[in-house]
Amino acid sequence: MPEYIEFKESDFKKIEKFFKNNGFRKVTEKEEQQMFERLALGDRKLHQEGSNTAFIFSVGRLSVKVYTTFSRESKTTIKENRCAWVSLLDGDTRIYSSPQIRRTKNFIQKLMSWSLIVKTILESQPLCPECKAKMYPKRNKKGTKHWWECNRTEYHSNGKVEKMSWNIFKTNLSLELKEFYQEYEKEQKIYQEYLKKKGKTNHVVGSTRTKRPLGRPENVE
Ligand SMILES: [Zn+2]
Repeated sequence: MPEYIEFKESDFKKIEKFFKNNGFRKVTEKEEQQMFERLALGDRKLHQEGSNTAFIFSVGRLSVKVYTTFSRESKTTIKENRCAWVSLLDGDTRIYSSPQIRRTKNFIQKLMSWSLIVKTILESQPLCPECKAKMYPKRNKKGTKHWWECNRTEYHSNGKVEKMSWNIFKTNLSLELKEFYQEYEKEQKIYQEYLKKKGKTNHVVGSTRTKRPLGRPENVE
C-alpha cells in the first residue's frame, strides 16, 4: 500500500505560487456555487468538493481545472485517501482527465507535472486545416480515446468533419514532461495488458467516481 503523507501550509503555498506563475487562478467559492446551480448538481453541501481548492487556466471555451485536495478553509489537506486530478474542460464538459494523483511522497511534483501537461494539451489546440477555425477536443463515451474536431462541414471542401490526432501536444512538452508522460504511457500499457489478460476493461477517471444525481445530465454528458 502506498504511504499517504500529510501536507503542510508551506506545501500549499508552494503550489499556490506555482499555479500563479503559470497563469492559473484560484476558483472562487462563488464560481463553484454557480457551477453547481448551472449544472443542477444538487445540494453542494453534500459534496466534499465544496471545500476543495481548485485552480483554473482558461482560453476561450477551454479550461484546465486542477482539484488539489487542499481544503479551502484550513489550507491543509482533507481526508487522507482523497485524490487530486487535473481536467481539460470544454465549457462545463469534462473532455480529458489526468489519472488520479494520490497523496503519497511525490504528490506535489506529480500534481504540477500533470497541470502543465494538460495546460500544454489546451495550448496545442489546432486550427482546422480546411476552414482555419479552432478545432475542439472530443472523446469517446468511455473516455479512452481523444481527438480534435471541426464540424463546420459547410466550409470543408469534402463536406466532412475534420479530425486531428490528440498526440500533437507531445511535441510541445518540455523534455522533462515528455519523459514523465512517456513513463505514464508505459505504465498504462502494462496495466492495459494486465486487464486484458484478466478479461477486464479499462477504468477511466470519472467512470468509477460516485455518480451524482444530475438535474440536467446533458450539461455534463
Ligand atoms: Zn473546419
